[in-house]
Amino acid sequence: MQAMVLKALKKPLEWTELPDRQPGPGEIRVRVLACGVCRTDLHVVDGELPNPRLPMIPGHEIVGRIDAIGAGVETLRVGERVGIPWLGHTCGVCPYCVSGHENLCDHPLFTGFTREGGYATAAIADSRYAFPLGEDGDDASLAPLLCAGLIGWRSLVIAGEEARTLGLYGFGAAAHIIAQVAIWQGRTVFAFTQPGDTTTQAFARKLGAVWAGGSDESAPAKLDAAIIFAPVGSLVPTALRAVRKGGRVVCAGIHMSDIPSFPYDILWEERQLVSVANLTRQDGLDFLSLAPKIGIVTQITRYPLREANRALDDLRAGRFDGAAVLIP
Ligand SMILES: [Zn+2]
Ligand SMILES: [Zn+2]
Repeated sequence: MQAMVLKALKKPLEWTELPDRQPGPGEIRVRVLACGVCRTDLHVVDGELPNPRLPMIPGHEIVGRIDAIGAGVETLRVGERVGIPWLGHTCGVCPYCVSGHENLCDHPLFTGFTREGGYATAAIADSRYAFPLGEDGDDASLAPLLCAGLIGWRSLVIAGEEARTLGLYGFGAAAHIIAQVAIWQGRTVFAFTQPGDTTTQAFARKLGAVWAGGSDESAPAKLDAAIIFAPVGSLVPTALRAVRKGGRVVCAGIHMSDIPSFPYDILWEERQLVSVANLTRQDGLDFLSLAPKIGIVTQITRYPLREANRALDDLRAGRFDGAAVLIP
């Protein structure tokens, strides 16, 4: 197999030949068909997440076809197309796992961080953390659903059913998917981009946002809830100012720059500030069964696997709308 490997933090990934590995008990091996590029991958490469293990193969939005299974795998079969998300393993016995919060497991493994990821021609996964994808839909178009879509979904659920007017701060891979879900659910979506990014604002309007503008602008209506996808801590007070009394601000990212201090009165009146971490397998089952009914269309830019560094650079610079996907 070949992979784009991170050998040192903040350095480009290197194209590397690796021996093929056989799946162990409970594991599957997939031939990677497509792997999405997530903002988390930038945080991984930049060393912004705790305890990185090098060398590392990033990538946690894997669409692959199973070509080998280990002992004891009964729910999946060779030839099946599956999606492999960020949550790669949980312990099953910690207080979080046993209470239905496996996203907060004390001893987790994460695909493309503490487990090998999908910037490769093949990947090994724990079979219990792979989702059957069926045969409908193009491989590359499905890839962003596996993290951008899933984290967006968990954020939307936490924003609450009663959030009818919803602000999305940062209109990238996650927001462009979850805007479609929210609009399908009958919510009204306001999109906030970097100031002056009229291309992305037009993209948001095309997807059905009733309003799109810079994060320095105020929305034309008070928001019931806001989800912050951009890793920019100064957006927290901005979003708190934009939500109504009792409104909720959800921080969806795994990493954010420091939040500046802010006056208590923008949190007062029962506004809530919460964060979302990882996903549960139930999130995956819920979202991936709903996605085909909604008819989500992902906007993707394809890159050959060997050009993963260019894809990461383009993500960092905001050179495309939607999501980047690597094709082996
Ligand atoms: Zn656990
Ligand atoms: Zn991700």
